[in-house]
Amino acid sequence: MNIRICLLPGDGIGPEIVNQAVGVLDRVAAKFGHTITTTSALIGGIAIDTTGIPLPEETITQCQKADAILLGAVGGPKWDTIDPAIRPEKGLLGIRKALGLFANLRPATLFKELTSASYLRPDIIGQGLDIMVVRELTGGAYFGEPRGETVVNGERAAFNTMIYTESEIERIVHVACKIAMKRGKRLCSVDKANVLDVSRLWREVTIRTAAQYPEIQLSHMYVDNAAMQLIRDPSQFDVLVTENLFGDILSDEASIITGSIGMLPSASMGTTGPALFEPIHGSAPDIAGQDLANPLATILSVAMMFRYSFNLTTEALAVEQAVHKVLAQGYRTGDIYVGQGTKVGCSKMGTLVAEALA
Ligand code: NAD
Repeated sequence: MNIRICLLPGDGIGPEIVNQAVGVLDRVAAKFGHTITTTSALIGGIAIDTTGIPLPEETITQCQKADAILLGAVGGPKWDTIDPAIRPEKGLLGIRKALGLFANLRPATLFKELTSASYLRPDIIGQGLDIMVVRELTGGAYFGEPRGETVVNGERAAFNTMIYTESEIERIVHVACKIAMKRGKRLCSVDKANVLDVSRLWREVTIRTAAQYPEIQLSHMYVDNAAMQLIRDPSQFDVLVTENLFGDILSDEASIITGSIGMLPSASMGTTGPALFEPIHGSAPDIAGQDLANPLATILSVAMMFRYSFNLTTEALAVEQAVHKVLAQGYRTGDIYVGQGTKVGCSKMGTLVAEALA
């Protein structure tokens, strides 16, 4: 297969971790006979420094021409005080918008080799954790109109609108159903249908959309209960689908119970066009440039890319198994080191995974 990937290394540890992921991409290409070509473009703080804006037009063009995009991270203290209109994070929002990326896939996977890093008790976490949170990314209260500030009875008041159209709900539920079909075929839709009108429509449309996938076992849960159940008994979940605001909170909650922010990948997808893959963590300015970052979240983002953009399941599994193997051999970057095994840096960890693929 011929694959074109646009790399957006970004800021802080971004270039270091993307570099290691490219090493893994090269190894997969050689092993499975693919031709993978990469281009690199500017986003975030480095784009501001070079061009004055966080998302140059040239970056959008390069991304549109690619089959998939791999992003490191953006931001850092250097740009914390600049005009909010051109902050590095605007680059991220901008690229999601430009590419119509409405579905955010956030797996919360706890590798059994790392169960001691989890914040949950061993009897709850069992042999690990494997949940996929599918969050709607371009609708709901974050984008709904009208929004703003007004005056009510002589005092300031502010408001946002949580709004979803039927087609917005349908397309995200289709994404979630297709993912559930590739996994355990269980889908839990999270809403607040006992209180919110928008949630009642969400539930109605979810039921009729999921009915097109007769093998899927659909359930519904109120968001407050879902937040609780994720801590009490996370293994009950296979795929969760929810709207933007609920998904923002629940996907962070689901991932942090694994205890290792440096391990978690994500994907943002649209209906057509290239999808974007990135680690969930930020640019970690406190450890940037010191070869201390954990590159595994970015490497696992590459595995997601093979699975979801190219339907190359064998390649995805090979990358995931290489990560397992290196962890089972006891290698750890600082963030997942708990006193046992061999502590390694970012480049060594990347090399070990690439070698494990051979
Ligand atoms: P962060 O995720 O960058 O760091 C939080 C903590 O986790 C830090 O102690 C960091 O050293 C550690 N950490 C993160 N990733 C790691 C890795 N791969 N290996 C080892 N340790 C790792 O979050 P923050 O400190 O709140 O934000 C730093 C900057 O990143 C800010 O400018 C923020 O706006 C930006 N940010 C960007 C993204 C993104 O690009 N998607 C996401 C979140 C934050």
